[in-house]
Amino acid sequence: MKVVKFGGSSLADAAHVQKVIQIVQSDPERKVIVTSAPGKRFAEDVKVTDLLIKYANAIINGSEASTIVETIFDRYQQIGSGFDVPKSVLDDIKAKLIALPTQSYPNDDYLMAAFKAHGERLNAELFAACLTESGTKARFIDPSEAGILCDNPNGATVLEQTYANLANLSYGEERLVFPGFFGFTLDGNIATFARGGSDITGSILARGLNADLYENFTDVDAIFSANPKIVPDAQPIHKMTFREMRELSYAGFSVFNDEAIIPAIQGQVPINVKNTNNPNLPGTLIVPEKDFTSKKPVTGIAASNRFSALYLHRYLLNKEVGFTLKILQILYKYDVSYEHMPSGIDDLTIIFDRSQLDHDTIKKMCHDIQIELNPDTLDWIDDYAIIMVVGEGMRARVGTIENIIRPLAEHDISVHMINQGASRISIMLGTRQSDADAAVKYIYQHFFKEDPSVNQLEYQAEV
Ligand code: ASP
Repeated sequence: MKVVKFGGSSLADAAHVQKVIQIVQSDPERKVIVTSAPGKRFAEDVKVTDLLIKYANAIINGSEASTIVETIFDRYQQIGSGFDVPKSVLDDIKAKLIALPTQSYPNDDYLMAAFKAHGERLNAELFAACLTESGTKARFIDPSEAGILCDNPNGATVLEQTYANLANLSYGEERLVFPGFFGFTLDGNIATFARGGSDITGSILARGLNADLYENFTDVDAIFSANPKIVPDAQPIHKMTFREMRELSYAGFSVFNDEAIIPAIQGQVPINVKNTNNPNLPGTLIVPEKDFTSKKPVTGIAASNRFSALYLHRYLLNKEVGFTLKILQILYKYDVSYEHMPSGIDDLTIIFDRSQLDHDTIKKMCHDIQIELNPDTLDWIDDYAIIMVVGEGMRARVGTIENIIRPLAEHDISVHMINQGASRISIMLGTRQSDADAAVKYIYQHFFKEDPSVNQLEYQAEV
């Protein structure tokens, strides 16, 4: 049995929904279908989820919202009119949209979550009707019926009990259509995952229903070995491991939500990323490590500019007991998590995800560190990018670091930090943000284009 998830662009209009229906009908194993809300039909279009956020904000601020309700409803009507869905289905969608402000919510966070979730909830109802009209019996299943339990209204995490609930879900001949992106709190309120969270629902269902495969249909042919915006002819990755995907998504491989892979890993369910517009292509298969034999040292290269770093220097730092503890206490005080902390004999760099920090927090945090730890140098470095070079085969080949650094040196790109993960399947580099794209390009060229032997495993070293 396969769990199949379709992203917002795959369900953006009737023509796309038609393709999705063909994909579902072409394989009887595609039993469980997860839908996103209708996404963008063209570059300037607005996703239904963003329209619902606007609707929620209008209600919170007491503003007029009828125009926005019409705009949202039009999206569903356009899809429904491509199929002969009963009028009652569309009437029901409209009624539910209009009724959203009349429901009671514990607070505005829950109100926001409930409004957002209706993008997928109404789309799943509509999709089940379209599929049934097209000759394949389908049933809409609400996360409350399936027992998908989460902990907080926005940016929720799934509760373990969900998997026991899903194991009890019985199904027969018909296909099951689940809305992605949300579950329910123990109090029975709607809670949404992070943006892009329909991927998470798909993964939870794949684990909970013990699927053989989780197919994730999107609008790209595969995951590529480098961002095609930087390297236009980057090779598609045919097969990679869960670990490789985790490491790459960390530095911006954003094909699907990076939390989404975790339930699939826990259930050891392989993921196949495929293109709705090109469903016969193999896409990218992401598998457990035990099902993978590496043929080359480097699978993919990614870069992200979303980082900042704090550099501290003080003599004999390595001898001082409790230095890092004091820093961590300060981070804890400001509720800040860090990404990495490479250290040397007299110095230490702490790398942060910039999106969680505002100017004021940085100022206060640096001030406390200066007072409590009295470093000789304290520099806040806003201009920080991380490059990840990832490959399961890396540990079976000597000299990968040299091959990463050489093209950078040849192009005068300086490297501020190098860190090889304990798993030995990734090497992380810190560079200036303005160098990041060029670094990806030159490393890619060196491994994938200039000399094919650089990215081949000649022998299996000790692993
Ligand atoms: N509709 C939600 C979003 O736009 C979730 C998803 O599409 O996966 O973030």
